[in-house]
Amino acid sequence: MSATIFEKSSIGRSGINLPKQQVGDTKPLDAMLLRSEKAKLPELSEFDVVRHFTNLSKKNFSIDSNFYPLGSCTMKYNPKIEERVGALDGFANLHPHHITNNKPEFMQGALQSLKILEDDLKEITGMDAFTLTPEAGAHGEMTGIMTIGAYHKKRGNKKRFVIVPDSSHGTNPASASMVDYEVITVKSNASGGMDVEAFKEAINDEVAAVMMTVPNTVGLFNPGVKEICDIAHEHDALMYYDGANLNAILGLIRPGDIGFDVVHLNLHKTFATPHGGGGPGSGPVGVKEHLIRFLPDLRVDFKQESGYFIKEPSSDTIGKVSPFFGNYMVSLKALVYMQTLGREGMINVSQKAVLNANYILSKLKDYLDVPYDAYCMHECVLSAQSLYKEHHVSTLDIAKYLLDFGLHAPTIYFPMIVHEAIMIEPTETENIDTMDYFCQKVIDAVELAKTNPEAFKEFPKTLPISRADETKAARSLNIRWQD
Ligand SMILES: *Cc1c(COP(=O)(O)O)cnc(C)c1O
Repeated sequence: MSATIFEKSSIGRSGINLPKQQVGDTKPLDAMLLRSEKAKLPELSEFDVVRHFTNLSKKNFSIDSNFYPLGSCTMKYNPKIEERVGALDGFANLHPHHITNNKPEFMQGALQSLKILEDDLKEITGMDAFTLTPEAGAHGEMTGIMTIGAYHKKRGNKKRFVIVPDSSHGTNPASASMVDYEVITVKSNASGGMDVEAFKEAINDEVAAVMMTVPNTVGLFNPGVKEICDIAHEHDALMYYDGANLNAILGLIRPGDIGFDVVHLNLHKTFATPHGGGGPGSGPVGVKEHLIRFLPDLRVDFKQESGYFIKEPSSDTIGKVSPFFGNYMVSLKALVYMQTLGREGMINVSQKAVLNANYILSKLKDYLDVPYDAYCMHECVLSAQSLYKEHHVSTLDIAKYLLDFGLHAPTIYFPMIVHEAIMIEPTETENIDTMDYFCQKVIDAVELAKTNPEAFKEFPKTLPISRADETKAARSLNIRWQD
């Protein structure tokens, strides 16, 4: 492992040259504000610092360098034009306090971009209005459920529960309980979807909402979804669509047409903005007409006479869910992505995303277990259960093996309803050569497991750290340098 920047320090080296003090005597700082000893800062030349950080950056795994098939995360290529537009002065240097000071005349371009984005998202999803302010997918879920709560409260409905199938994303039950609903979990059936019969038993008049991840976390589209919407509505329960992975259906079907009342999208997965390592996100929430008045504050509108402006909030709004317009840059980049692709381009996105996932599924299904034998949507789920039983080589072992070949591991041990799960999402931006290379490495791992399972103890061999104690790394992480 390379040394930390502190270990590279040498007393007296310097990368800066401060000008001489050009003002007269300054007032000394209050004694309580002064350090009792000098800060221990590393001393290096500018070149040392540049080299140090450039080398560190090369240790980062990124979508711009290698294949990143992390299921449920949509780690796809983000065209650079989005960065270029985002960096334009009028967007990047716009002061957010123009909003607070109500100066729409200074931000017409930005407001217009938000209005077009909202209109495009309405068209894509079949919803009637969007809030663009939530800052992540899970934040959108919470906002959506709060909006639903406000709707029921206004109508005097007594609601206590939110139904979530066990094939939903883990954030769904978490968001529902954060808004103080009790979660009813409905099991999936043998084909991986929420079982309609089990759903009929669970639904009752105290159910506020039914949250469905579509496609669900096993990468499948539930054919019973329309029936589930109809039954829920008979109980005045609202239907919530987790559309984080909209690249599965973009331009092909619309949640609003199926009967969903609320949808959130992850602009940072489906449209643009790489989001590895918990980077900035945007989780806009779309609703049907009957819920618009409860949406969070800050929505944009347009009048011929005065241009773009921020609407007066309705008296029933749930209030603000983020400062200003949330992560505006993520919204802007999503808009650029959508506008450069256009309608046909976006249909192509989902068709390729689904085709690529099925290509990988078909190449690997003779080597790993297939828990649900069906065409998948934008991602496929396989399992190493048999391999583990027969040769004691686990999903984790395969994931570690792949790291030595410049491949990011797929999502593993998720969804939790599949034992030894491996969830692969190639995304629409990968070509067939990359997918073939990846599949061959998985196949090589399976073959090696059969002949030399012991070998897996050593992988990865080429990275700075081989097998970390994962529990310790998660529970008592310490990344601070100490003298
Ligand atoms: C990623 C994801 C989420 C959560 O989104 P964040 O932006 O990480 O909060 C929710 N649902 C699904 C299906 C997802 O894939």
